[in-house]
Amino acid sequence: MDATALTAWLREFARLVAENKDELTALDSAIGDGDHGVNMDRGLTAVVAALDAEPPETPSALFKKVGMTLISKVGGASGPLYGTAFLRMSAAADAELDGPGFAKVLRAGLDGVVARGKAAPGDKTMIDALAPAVDALDAAFASGAGLADAFSAASEAAARGREATVPLVARKGRASYLGERSAGHPDPGATSVTLLMRAAASTLG
Ligand code: ADP
Ligand code: MG
Ligand code: MG
Repeated sequence: MDATALTAWLREFARLVAENKDELTALDSAIGDGDHGVNMDRGLTAVVAALDAEPPETPSALFKKVGMTLISKVGGASGPLYGTAFLRMSAAADAELDGPGFAKVLRAGLDGVVARGKAAPGDKTMIDALAPAVDALDAAFASGAGLADAFSAASEAAARGREATVPLVARKGRASYLGERSAGHPDPGATSVTLLMRAAASTLG
């Protein structure tokens, strides 16, 4: 996977977020302030514009541009969290990534989200979709799977992780202000992570 392939992944993520903007916003209206779709779409529209203006030549430069753009364009919690993930991915990325190399990079991104947001698995956040996705990638490559099977397993793991947030009571972010009333709804950030991994399965798998 080179910068061109990874750029296709992030463009597809931007497309899926635009397509699902209203759903993300509706989910955030139920347990937050109703702006997750708008936040992510604004950030990713700026990302696509930045990639059009000057295509990055390395995975590291690409992830850095994505991270900086998300941090500067997205006001909500998700901007700094996704932004930190991509900056950590930039720092961890080699010039060309094979499957296990990509898994290592994505885990660095996950570690960045944890360091920044101090959430743990089960707190009903984006981590509940991202952590199982990274674990699924590692497990797939450890068992000798190819890219298509590994990314499809990661996408399914993210979707299952997102479903598993439904009964949870939020312990981080705005949804935690609702206490027990946050249960019964999927987490918006975990939902956008499923789009990130669905985009990976269709472009990198
Ligand atoms: P805001 O809550 O500031 O309006 P968004 O609506 O864009 O920002 O993003 C909300 C999402 O951010 C949540 O659904 C959750 O997945 C994620 N989130 C919030 N706080 C944290 C945290 N501390 N750690 C990880 N993810 C978090
Ligand atoms: Mg919000
Ligand atoms: Mg907000």
